[in-house]
Amino acid sequence: MGPYEVIDPAFRQLILQNAVLQILGQDFGWLEGPVWFGDANQLLVSDVPNDRILRWTEDAGIGVFRQPSGFENGHARDRQGRLIGCSHQNRCVTRTELDGTLTVLADSYEGRRLNSPNDVAVHSDGGIWFSDPHYGINTDYEGGKQEAELPARVYRLDPVSGRLAVVADDFTGPNGLCFSPDERTLYVTETGGQFAPDDPRHIRAFAVSDACRLTGGAAFHSVSPGLADGLRCDQDGRVWTSAGDGVHCVSPEGALLGKIRTGSTVSNLTFGGRNRSRLFICAAHTLMAVYTNVRGAAWP
Ligand code: MG
Repeated sequence: MGPYEVIDPAFRQLILQNAVLQILGQDFGWLEGPVWFGDANQLLVSDVPNDRILRWTEDAGIGVFRQPSGFENGHARDRQGRLIGCSHQNRCVTRTELDGTLTVLADSYEGRRLNSPNDVAVHSDGGIWFSDPHYGINTDYEGGKQEAELPARVYRLDPVSGRLAVVADDFTGPNGLCFSPDERTLYVTETGGQFAPDDPRHIRAFAVSDACRLTGGAAFHSVSPGLADGLRCDQDGRVWTSAGDGVHCVSPEGALLGKIRTGSTVSNLTFGGRNRSRLFICAAHTLMAVYTNVRGAAWP
């Protein structure tokens, strides 16, 4: 039954029995931050240790989109279609303008430098929500060892005032984030210090109020094996999350429905392709894709 592991029979309706797990490219440093550009029919994806953003298209395969990249990790697009990125090395959130120039959107909070923005999601009101853990400045491998100046938090950048606000500060290590299709829920992964076996490794669900505040934040689903680094919702509100053995599909109620086994750790994933039904998977050093029977949320 291919790469699938069915936990709940409902999972059978979400996958295609004859779809294969394709390898689109391999032998990269460490892949993260995939983002789909339907208008260009391309995927952009970070190869973090090699300080570059790669571009994949069906016709041309893999090429380099930008190098150096400031060791960018997570990506999203805003409603104007611009690329929003999280730079480890430069400790900031960037926007690539339509003419290709780079704008720094946020690099400090109350006079202190951000740590290493990791992942980002854009609300329909233009607010930019991102996590700022320490992972990217802990080592030279993914951006360069630097001193942390702030606790690990989640922030919202206001699209009108440009002001940064702390929206969650009770994390050990916040990581991936994504909105539910109705934007009433923000899922944020907690990956702790990533080293101790008892570090937290679950997905938290927050209620979003007035498009700018979070309440709640209870554990929604605990991933095992491995960590929930990045995640995406499909248009029916299921959560597809990375894990230590592939991609896990979780119901809106938090129950594991099934797995796509990749044979390796998965960091991040995103839906793309025509109809947003193709799942692009950053499986450690390999870029994979598989067609599914669901469609990704319109604005992941
Ligand atoms: Mg991440």
